[in-house]
Amino acid sequence: AASITQRSSTLAEVPQSSRLSWMLLPTKKSTKRGDTCSVATTTDMLTKAGYIHQSSAGIYTLMPLAQRAMDKIERIIDDEMQSVGGQKLAMPTLLTPDNWIKTGRWQTTGDELFTLHDRKQSAMLLGPTHEEEVTAIVKTMVRSFREYPLRLYQTTRKFRDEARPRAGLLRGREFVMKDMYSFDVTRDQAIETFGALERAYRRCFDRIGVPYAVADADSGNIGGSLSKEFHFVHGSGEDTVLACQSCGYAANEERARGSCSAHGAAYLATVVDAASGSRVAQRLVVVPAGHEPSALKIRQAWPLEPGHRLELAPANVQETQRAAADMLEPLVDACALGLPESPSVSASVAGDWHVAQAGDSCTRCASGVLTAQRAIEVGHIFYLGDKYSRSMDLTVLHQGARHYVQRGCFGIGISRVLQAAAECCSSSDAGLRWPLAIAPFLAAIVPLAGTSHVPQVYKKLAQVVVGGKCVFENNVAVDDREYLSPGFRLHDAQLLGFPLTLVLGRAFAAASEVEVQLRLPPTLSLPRAAAGIELTC
Ligand code: ATP
Ligand code: MG
Ligand code: MG
Ligand code: MG
Repeated sequence: AASITQRSSTLAEVPQSSRLSWMLLPTKKSTKRGDTCSVATTTDMLTKAGYIHQSSAGIYTLMPLAQRAMDKIERIIDDEMQSVGGQKLAMPTLLTPDNWIKTGRWQTTGDELFTLHDRKQSAMLLGPTHEEEVTAIVKTMVRSFREYPLRLYQTTRKFRDEARPRAGLLRGREFVMKDMYSFDVTRDQAIETFGALERAYRRCFDRIGVPYAVADADSGNIGGSLSKEFHFVHGSGEDTVLACQSCGYAANEERARGSCSAHGAAYLATVVDAASGSRVAQRLVVVPAGHEPSALKIRQAWPLEPGHRLELAPANVQETQRAAADMLEPLVDACALGLPESPSVSASVAGDWHVAQAGDSCTRCASGVLTAQRAIEVGHIFYLGDKYSRSMDLTVLHQGARHYVQRGCFGIGISRVLQAAAECCSSSDAGLRWPLAIAPFLAAIVPLAGTSHVPQVYKKLAQVVVGGKCVFENNVAVDDREYLSPGFRLHDAQLLGFPLTLVLGRAFAAASEVEVQLRLPPTLSLPRAAAGIELTC
């Protein structure tokens, strides 16, 4: 009771959830590592400001301010996932290995998998991703092709025993991911789904407000043949994206490495038996810089037998080297495809492959040059084909034949996005900065000379309409910790990174003047809307 009566009663109209006096914030503000903003210090700053609290290596509590920001990111993602027919569910974290044994990942995933035993000594695992589980659900519940397409998604905690957990939420061992799984009857529909999800992902990241790059990616352990990554470009990132400033093509170095040489790009053409899905033959296709391989021209050079279909995908470095070294199948090169003859293409096939690097000419447009940038992977989308459907025998009867259901999966690391956004937006001064859409509170009111006028200002702000919306509604914090000095509270407003701080100081008492402090990410100028806010009380 004593502590409650210390909180100002004039603020009864301001919700307790918006009052810093009710919030669990650390009072110790010093940091061992200094105040410049590198990866270590973004983690430090988030810790010092009370957003996160480390429990053990790579495992954190999201404190109330971080949870507010996470909720905002999740709302944006929910909105966009549901706009493309996403159905939200929640699958269990604690899984049995049965389905993982069927897909082979129980044997191949290695040390990243967190495993345990129940009281009967049966093995279990903590889900690092849910392809197996969702396949089992759909296999049990879906009976007819009419029930597809299906797009199921969840936002849950994932567990990966990372070799090097680092930088707070950037690489956690327990982290929050949005993962969507798509199910289509035909390959064309699955490719369409991939396109729809790529557009939805672009809308998500546009709304989150941190500049991002979309790069061709290696499929890694998840598999499949078409995948793209979403990256926040930042020097602290662990990935390298090679990008062409001329045509905008970008690829993760892992992928760019294999598909490019100085002279051309390599693709794998695979003939697949449509009924069984098994691979019949494979050839390397090399096209000169600036050209896309044409499925039509490949079919002319390499006619398909009835019941076979052609799949075309960029080759990675191992595939390219294996195909070039083995020379098992005659190579279908540019000349055979009727593309302009280029001796350098044949030369490159003969063994001139090298790791693509900054300074190489772009294989997509031939006029640009590749530059390398460090980046943080925040999202990853895959077209999986029949992977998981084949190993778990998920089939659909359509037009008289039984097919494996066509798959895709689509992930965003929500907790990683939170810290990566802070990382990209904060500069070298002693405080956080947030993109407006995900800041835990858009504004803070800091009353330095009594709280009697705060409710008025609070209400006035709640009525401000920007773009047809009351953007400040439930989005304003009040620093009513009157037991702290003005200097301490002003410093906190900076550290916590409220985009807009309204200081009610002496000038307010004397002439109703509010001091407005802006704290925006460097990529944002003063929002037009903020200039129009009038605050006369
Ligand atoms: P990374 O290359 O950084 O290890 P990944 O390729 O293994 O990531 P995916 O399996 O593609 O990750 O998972 C989808 C998304 O989940 C990633 O794009 C990333 O945003 C997020 N993510 C993956 N691992 C972690 C982690 N350890 N901590 C936080 N987020 C993660
Ligand atoms: Mg990983
Ligand atoms: Mg990766
Ligand atoms: Mg990935």
